[in-house]
Amino acid sequence: MIPIVKPYLPPREDLLPALENILYSGYIAEGEKVYEFERTFADYVANPFSLSLNSGTAALHIALMLAGVGEGDEIISTVLTAEPTNVAIKLMGAKVVWADVDASTGLLDPADVRKKITEKTKAIMLVHYAGMVADLTAFQQLSAEFNIPIIEDAAHALGAKYNGQPLGGISDYTIFSLQAIKHMTTVDGGFLCVKNKEQADRARLLRWFGLDKTKPRLENDITTPGYKYHMNNVNATIGLVQMGYVREIVGKYIENGKFFDQALQQTAGVELLQYYPGTEPSYWLYTMKVDRREDFIRMMAENGVAASELHLRNDRHSVFNESKTELPVFDEFYKKMVHIPCGWWLTEEDRERIATVIKKGW
Ligand SMILES: *Cc1c(COP(=O)(O)O)cnc(C)c1O
Repeated sequence: MIPIVKPYLPPREDLLPALENILYSGYIAEGEKVYEFERTFADYVANPFSLSLNSGTAALHIALMLAGVGEGDEIISTVLTAEPTNVAIKLMGAKVVWADVDASTGLLDPADVRKKITEKTKAIMLVHYAGMVADLTAFQQLSAEFNIPIIEDAAHALGAKYNGQPLGGISDYTIFSLQAIKHMTTVDGGFLCVKNKEQADRARLLRWFGLDKTKPRLENDITTPGYKYHMNNVNATIGLVQMGYVREIVGKYIENGKFFDQALQQTAGVELLQYYPGTEPSYWLYTMKVDRREDFIRMMAENGVAASELHLRNDRHSVFNESKTELPVFDEFYKKMVHIPCGWWLTEEDRERIATVIKKGW
């Protein structure tokens, strides 16, 4: 069965010597390898204020702290995402406020978000679901008009672009995940990208107990408690080796995604999604709408291809009961939404065959 997600690890002749070196180097905690990885990643996303962390969830947590989110605040978000996006909001004691999606993309609808803004709104959580890029033009306008920061959850969207610029340097906060099945993995890890040195310095304190690494331990004074969210040299070494492959690997997702965009046009029972002007998705999954989804999934399985909705709409979790609201557009979208594999592991024959079986119908 061709899976929907699969970890990419570099060739062992590249990865294992580097790993062996660092494991026995006597320095496996946060050190030079971490800083080197940060610089390389910062180049890739074109933002010097990029901090490594031990997960994408840690990055979400710190972004919310930097945005000043606390008890009783509201964060506008989407139900169409992996749970960490919204669980992190709950961890801050804030309320998740669901906004509806755009029927043609499945991504947050700026017009509905506008309706949900109140005096308590502290941030907009903008998820670039499945590697598609949200309507940043509209959201940047909203953010400026109401003076509310945007936190971009780009865990699915490494390598995606907006007006030619990689995600990571656009809004006040952007987070990435380097968890097992994302475009690039360090086994576990994450990045938080911010827009200035002050925020980066605060984030650096928050990721390591509140201690200032630039000062000797005995001269340190913790003023705000921080977490243990930093990356270590071992994960960073994997990351550094991955950086040698990331353009090629992300490129494969994009090539496959563009292939399906073409090959599946005008297919009976399939409605392709749209992309906002100026956006270049990185197609972590290939997402589309299909008629009779259960039959579609069965037909794909019979042909050896995994297909599924993958994520449970987040408002189904009891922890979000207080946020219950009507989401009529999403309800319709979710009935038909399905993902098919689109990653680096697909061969040209695989993707041709996938398109052929879909075109045959179900
Ligand atoms: C994976 C993921 C995260 C969390 O990243 P971790 O590195 O697993 O903590 C956050 N948001 C989304 C949308 C994700 O898919």
